[in-house]
Amino acid sequence: MENIYGKNGLQKVINASGRMTKLGVSTISDGVGKTLVEAAGNYVLIDSLFEFAGKKIGEMTGAADACVTSGASAAIALSVASLICGDNLSLVQHLYDRLPYIDKREVIMLKGHNVDFGAPVAEMVQIGGGRIVEVGFANGSKLSDIENAVNKNTLAILFVKSHHCVQKEMVDVKDTIELANRLNIPCIVDAAAEEDLSRYINMGADIVCYSGAKAIEGPTSGFAVCKTSELASNMRLQYKGIGRAMKIGKEGIMGLVQAISENLNGEHTPVVTKEDLVPFVEKINAVPGCKAEIIQDEAGREIYRAKISFNKEEYGFSAREMISKLCEGETAVYTRDYQANLGSLAIDPRPLKSKDELNYIYSRIEEIGKEGK
Ligand SMILES: *Cc1c(COP(=O)(O)O)cnc(C)c1O
Repeated sequence: MENIYGKNGLQKVINASGRMTKLGVSTISDGVGKTLVEAAGNYVLIDSLFEFAGKKIGEMTGAADACVTSGASAAIALSVASLICGDNLSLVQHLYDRLPYIDKREVIMLKGHNVDFGAPVAEMVQIGGGRIVEVGFANGSKLSDIENAVNKNTLAILFVKSHHCVQKEMVDVKDTIELANRLNIPCIVDAAAEEDLSRYINMGADIVCYSGAKAIEGPTSGFAVCKTSELASNMRLQYKGIGRAMKIGKEGIMGLVQAISENLNGEHTPVVTKEDLVPFVEKINAVPGCKAEIIQDEAGREIYRAKISFNKEEYGFSAREMISKLCEGETAVYTRDYQANLGSLAIDPRPLKSKDELNYIYSRIEEIGKEGK
């Protein structure tokens, strides 16, 4: 059966790539779907809804409070803006007019964290009024790089926890949070795609930003869990300023709360598991010129993927060529392409909608290999 996108003439997508914004991030459960419809069909006092959701997310994650946003990007922007403005409504309403006269807005981040996740993290900080102070080097950094950059104009330290970041020779998140706490500087963690909603707040981070659609598999949304209720309420105040351009609706808020609750109750079991990858990898290994193995996530999360390397002489195509070949045709297969320059691609089983999709990927790889002959 064709889905709503196919019916409208859009190419069918098999997502073996991960929670990718360019592919629609994730898909929601029936429970979240029902919640969205019911919430969208009724009125509510929005300020009370924001407070309810913040308190509820706080209870579920062990944080004091939380602020719901339209995405993790908005959470970064609003957290920076809220640290500049505090509870000063007039400053919230005139932030950009006053910014040139505000010195205390430096946000320290490691060079290896200044990444483009689809949009640059630094832009989100600057939307919030922050001024980026980059420390360390592209191939490594030390805690002292952060400490040495701290001065009277330091607003916050931003730590980006992501596979997009440089992973080697980098400062540890826990050490960074401890340093920030010791220096009495707010520490913001961008944990957009992370699955553990309590880890960084438990380490002592002040504000931790998550995407609602990535690991949580909720609707397009985001949230920041906060160390104090005051931080969350100052973030919410930003909706009277720049936050308005990042509005999230009532259905998004309720859908997010439902998705977090389902996620924490372990209700989101992927259709295709690590176990299903075992026979898949075996079959791929029987294709001449292909070598497959199961590997763990680069950032150390409990995620397992099938890595497939292509020997161009024997198979006919390189990994880079395969990545684009798989995207052609009536049904496109999107794979993880971060290692293409090293001759491999990866299959992420989590976003697959059925075991048939995994079989389809195998048959495409077998088929294309024959064409290459
Ligand atoms: C995806 C991502 C974001 C943005 O999240 P949205 O919810 O799409 O706004 C921010 N930071 C990192 C590291 C990401 O991976």
